[in-house]
Amino acid sequence: MSRFLRIYLLAIALPALLLALFGAVQMSLVGEWLYWMELEGLRGRAERAAARELSSVRELLDQRLDRIVATPDSESRQALLRELAGGDRFVRAAFLWREGEGCVWPRRTGSTEEERRFLNRYESLFGGAVPWVPPDPSAPARAASDPPTRGYRAWASGDRPELLAWVRTAPGEIAGFEFEKMAWLADLQVTGFAPAVSLRGGNGPLAAELRDESGAVLAPSRLASSWSPRREASLAPFFPRWLVRVAPAEGIPLAHSGERLLLVAAAFFGLLLLSLVAGGFVLFRAARRERLDSLRKTDFVSNVSHELRTPLTSIRMFSELLAEDRITDPERRRRALGTIAAESARLSRLVEGVLDFSRLEQNRRKYDLRPLDLGELLSDIQQATADGPTRHSSFVTPHCERIPAVLADRDAVRQIVLNLLDNAAKYAPGALPEVSVRAAGNGVVSLAVADRGPGIPPRAAKRIFDRFYRVDDATTRETGGNGLGLSIARRLARGMGGDLVYRPREGGGSVFELTLPTAKEDSP
Ligand code: ADP
Repeated sequence: MSRFLRIYLLAIALPALLLALFGAVQMSLVGEWLYWMELEGLRGRAERAAARELSSVRELLDQRLDRIVATPDSESRQALLRELAGGDRFVRAAFLWREGEGCVWPRRTGSTEEERRFLNRYESLFGGAVPWVPPDPSAPARAASDPPTRGYRAWASGDRPELLAWVRTAPGEIAGFEFEKMAWLADLQVTGFAPAVSLRGGNGPLAAELRDESGAVLAPSRLASSWSPRREASLAPFFPRWLVRVAPAEGIPLAHSGERLLLVAAAFFGLLLLSLVAGGFVLFRAARRERLDSLRKTDFVSNVSHELRTPLTSIRMFSELLAEDRITDPERRRRALGTIAAESARLSRLVEGVLDFSRLEQNRRKYDLRPLDLGELLSDIQQATADGPTRHSSFVTPHCERIPAVLADRDAVRQIVLNLLDNAAKYAPGALPEVSVRAAGNGVVSLAVADRGPGIPPRAAKRIFDRFYRVDDATTRETGGNGLGLSIARRLARGMGGDLVYRPREGGGSVFELTLPTAKEDSP
């Protein structure tokens, strides 16, 4: 494992993983907490549902008590009570009570069976054994002069809960009635129990039902539900042992927000991990490239030194021989001088190449971009090679169509073409290379140098444009070179907005194709 990878794993990946783990644990805790909160919310909604039902019962009771209070005298009061007991579906029985006398209406004598049972049920209350207002230890002692004027009395008769509502109509006189809970329950059953309110403050619809103390359903829910999770609230003080039970309606799971939060958190941590891994990868690659670069630079120095040594050795050797007059034969003297000249030329080419390369590396090379006629440039090169001693290169007279001028730096293009011709001469001796120029469309002109040499093995083809890369074969080893030529040529081409690519030639050999952008009509 490389040092960098170890550092990355220890310094970044491991802490990131721990952080993600910690985050996941935190998130699941938060999720649980949210779930718990939602259960609490459910309890709140159960309580609100119960309160709502209590207030609707209370409204029924108060409407009737108000009517009783509004009667002017005892007689009309009795008439009203009779009417309520006989005709009001929410009234099961009514009564008028006077202090000291007990129930003055209905009386035991002459009463119906139903009335007698009513009187029996509340005997202790009417007889004075039980106070109208039960003592409430938690409430502050009420002044005797300020007794409550109305009350609601939950009454257990056997195992059935009853509810009595009363109002003080005159000093020492109380009128009231027993609530007919069956009428109320019947209404709830018809509509299905949906605690009338849209129970706000939670997610989604709720199922709600009303149950009695034994668990029997008094009013079923309007919505289906699996009743898990559920919360209950009692209907105290009217029906202390009855419960309103609420639960999320079928198909509406609780803890929505918890799940959503977990999902978002998971996505967040996933992204965090991903970006850390990606960042690490990028760093890793950068470090690797840096290392390769420095290796290449060392390589470069040893390469250049090596390249310098060969010509220098022969120059030194021949010049010493000449200086000591050890070559006497004029013909050999001439050849020695020729070798010195040729090797010096090679030296300066090498130095030139290295300088060129470093200029390109540092992006210091400036291009003088002008419209350039490639055909004209080629005949210029041909002319020059015919006149001068340069070994590169004659080439088969180029085949040029009528092509538009390109926008390029003349010297740079010349350098590229000479390099390609030079390579053709070095690696594909024999037949002369062919140069062709054509408009490639899309505002691009292409100049191709094709030879019938050995071509370049596919494995190496991708790398010949890398600096210092030389194909490792006999021909290359024999010819002097530094592996900079093509790398420089491609950089020059790209610097001018063009490109240089290699492709194998059909029937054997290589094609190097230089593309350059055409000059616009209105360019200078
Ligand atoms: P150099 O010529 O100094 O070695 P180049 O960058 O010009 O460096 O070329 C890189 C390598 O590509 C050469 O070493 C050679 O192996 C290969 N090459 C270049 N041109 C040709 C060609 N026309 N035919 C075959 N091989 C070539």
